[in-house]
Amino acid sequence: MSTFPTTRLRRLRRSRALRDLVRETTLSLDDLVQPLFVAPEALPNDRLPPLARVTVDGAVRECEDLLRAGVKAVILFGIPEEKDDEGSGAWIENGIVQQALRALRPRFPELLLLTDVCLCEYTSHGHCGVLHGDEVDNDASLELIARTAVSHVDAGADAVCPSDMMDGRVAAIRAELPETPIVAYSAKYASSFYGPFREAAGSAPSFGDRRGYQMDPGNVREALRECELDIAEGADVIMVKPALPYLDVVRAVRDRFELPLAAYNVSGEYAMVKAAAAAGDLDERTAALESLTAIRRAGADIVITYWAKELAPFL
Ligand SMILES: [Zn+2]
Repeated sequence: MSTFPTTRLRRLRRSRALRDLVRETTLSLDDLVQPLFVAPEALPNDRLPPLARVTVDGAVRECEDLLRAGVKAVILFGIPEEKDDEGSGAWIENGIVQQALRALRPRFPELLLLTDVCLCEYTSHGHCGVLHGDEVDNDASLELIARTAVSHVDAGADAVCPSDMMDGRVAAIRAELPETPIVAYSAKYASSFYGPFREAAGSAPSFGDRRGYQMDPGNVREALRECELDIAEGADVIMVKPALPYLDVVRAVRDRFELPLAAYNVSGEYAMVKAAAAAGDLDERTAALESLTAIRRAGADIVITYWAKELAPFL
C-alpha cells in the first residue's frame, strides 16, 4: 500500500463536484417520511412546528404542501376526542386516523400513507396496551393492536407501523393482513428523547413508565433478537428508534439483516438541534442534513424525520 507523498486523500476533496462524485452516502426525499399528528382540534407548536396537531382538514392542506415540496410519505398519529381503558379510539370506524385516511386517500393517490399502530394515544392511562392491574397485559393487547391495523388498512393506509413493543404483535397483525406491508418498530428503546412527541401526541403514561415493554438503552444484542422475531413474524421493514443515540444499533441491524431498515429521528433529536440553532450555537440546516446523512451512513434505508418538509428544498 502506497502512502504519503504518493497517496493524498485531499485530491478528491478539492472541489464540490469531486466531493459529490465520490460521496458514499446520499440523502434523498425518496428516503424520508414526515410524521403528522391528527386531532379533533388543531394545536399549533410555534417552537417545533412539525409537532403541531392538525385537524383532518388541516392534514389535507399539510399533505398538499408536503407533496408540493416533494415529500412522498407521511406517518399518521392520532389524538382522539376521548380516551378509555382499552383505547377504543384507535380502531373505531370513525376514529381520527381513520377519518384522516378517508380524506387523504382519494385526494392523494401518490402519497404514501403509513400509520402508527399503538394504543397509548387512545388509552386513559397512556400505556401502549391494556392493563391487568398495574401491568400491561401483552396477550390481551394483541387483538386490539391487530384490530387497529385492520381498521387503518380498511380506511386506506398503505402500510402499518406497530410501535407498541408487545411480543407477538407483528404475527397478530400479519394473520389479519396478509397483503399489507408491516413496518415494525422492532428495536424501540425506552428513551428520554421522546419528550416533545409525548406533548404533541398526548401520550405520556399517567403512572409508571414504559421500561416494562420498551427496550433498555444498554442493549444491542437484544435489538437483534427483536428484529429477528419481527422478521420471522412477517415484518417487511424493521426499525430502530431513536436514531442518533443508537447509530451503533442501526449498524448492527444493517449488518445482520437484509430487510429494508428504517430509523426514527425522534422529536428530542430534532428539538436539540432546533434549540442549539436558536441559541446561535450551530446552523440548523447543515446540522440537520449532517444528522440525517449520518443515520443513512449507519445503515438506514428510510428515515422518519420532522425535518423532511423543511429540508425538502435542499435535497
Ligand atoms: Zn405506544
